[in-house]
Amino acid sequence: MREEIIGAVRAAGVVGAGGAGFPTHTKINASVDVVIANGAECEPLLRTNQHLMAVESKKIVQGLKLVMDATGAKRGYIGLKSKYEAAMANLTTAVSSLGYSSIELFILPDFYPAGDEQVLVHEVTGRIVPEGGIPLNVGAVVSNVETLMNVAQAVTGQPVVDKYVTITGAVRTPVTLKVPVGTKVSDLIALAGGPTVQPYALIDGGPMMGKLTSPQATVTKTTGGIIVLPVQHSLVVQKETDWNAIANRAKAVCCNCMACTDVCPRHLLGHSLEPHRVMQVIGRSQFSDTDTVTRAFLCSECGACDTFGCSMGLSPRRVNAELKRQLSKAGMKNPHRRQPLAAKAQREFRRIPTKRLVARLGLTAYDVKAPLQMEEPPVQAVEIALSQHIGAPAKPTVQIGDLVKRGDVIADIPEGALGARVHASITGKVVSINDRIGIRAV
Ligand code: SF4
Ligand code: SF4
Repeated sequence: MREEIIGAVRAAGVVGAGGAGFPTHTKINASVDVVIANGAECEPLLRTNQHLMAVESKKIVQGLKLVMDATGAKRGYIGLKSKYEAAMANLTTAVSSLGYSSIELFILPDFYPAGDEQVLVHEVTGRIVPEGGIPLNVGAVVSNVETLMNVAQAVTGQPVVDKYVTITGAVRTPVTLKVPVGTKVSDLIALAGGPTVQPYALIDGGPMMGKLTSPQATVTKTTGGIIVLPVQHSLVVQKETDWNAIANRAKAVCCNCMACTDVCPRHLLGHSLEPHRVMQVIGRSQFSDTDTVTRAFLCSECGACDTFGCSMGLSPRRVNAELKRQLSKAGMKNPHRRQPLAAKAQREFRRIPTKRLVARLGLTAYDVKAPLQMEEPPVQAVEIALSQHIGAPAKPTVQIGDLVKRGDVIADIPEGALGARVHASITGKVVSINDRIGIRAV
């Protein structure tokens, strides 16, 4: 049973749909006592998971049970917010109709970052993942709800060929769509009625952790949303600011008030990350203080410190990200592995309410519904990335000119590597192969 589930998930190319795309067959090849379905969807404006939990509730519950069976977990939880009313009702019905008494819903407060897997593990189980660790270290597996739906489909032989994406912000009709993996971002914007501003910028993912992207980019197995914003929006300006400006401002302006540390979710879990200290190191150029500098490795880059904590417009998040990059380039690894005994007492009062965060981000005008359109729009051409997951890029198994059917394997995991299979998401002819495989409908 266990091997069959893991084998089916591997064959279907399932990866974490809500994060960096860790291959799911590797993640569930473990022994834990609890599995948590992550339906928190804490990034403002994104609606994908809440819609999915309402319309695919049965598959999500089945996927959760399959991962429990694969990992030997005795308890399963679905973490979501009470404002997702349709999702709560339908998941409750699904759990009871399937008769899974080992699974229950866990209602989360509406705060950011409720969907951070370390935060979620603590909310649900009271356990604290050690510094530099993963939920597995405390006997838990956390899986996004779309990933679990894909697991349920995998055991029926269906590979991952579609992705649910919210297209929102400055578009005529914000919408959540199911589209073939490899669909161009420009096609998504057109399907949402087109932009309402010019010139515009695009964010792939949520406003907090998403990255700037271009209309030529394509949907991957991890794309959760595309946000269109005017180029002059503060969020866009913040994401475009280069490292030298970030560092210079940190040196010139940081008053070491600690407000960033006060809201840091990892600090509040008891980890020794203190962003204000890292800022101090930058300000004083004390790079020989490796004990402090290497604490940057403990940062999840959630952005709570810069978008909510700091009133001076500084970015401890970007400082930590750059330090991590430079340290890794120099061959250094995270030396901090402490296991906190308890979360900070003030944690409960320092959660960031989503509504206030949306206002702080200047996104209130865009905080609107993005209804789910179940019917998949016709897509004539896709470009499917060979690397849309953690691990080695998949190795093409097709050649230019080959005819492929939707669901055919077009690239496989290199021998002995961590990775994920890639499948054709539309039926057609292979027209290009580089770091993406282009397929055009014929
Ligand atoms: S980065 Fe901002 S919040 Fe943090 S210590 Fe400096 S001034 Fe204060
Ligand atoms: S981005 Fe800021 S708030 Fe988030 S974990 Fe890193 S230091 Fe803490």
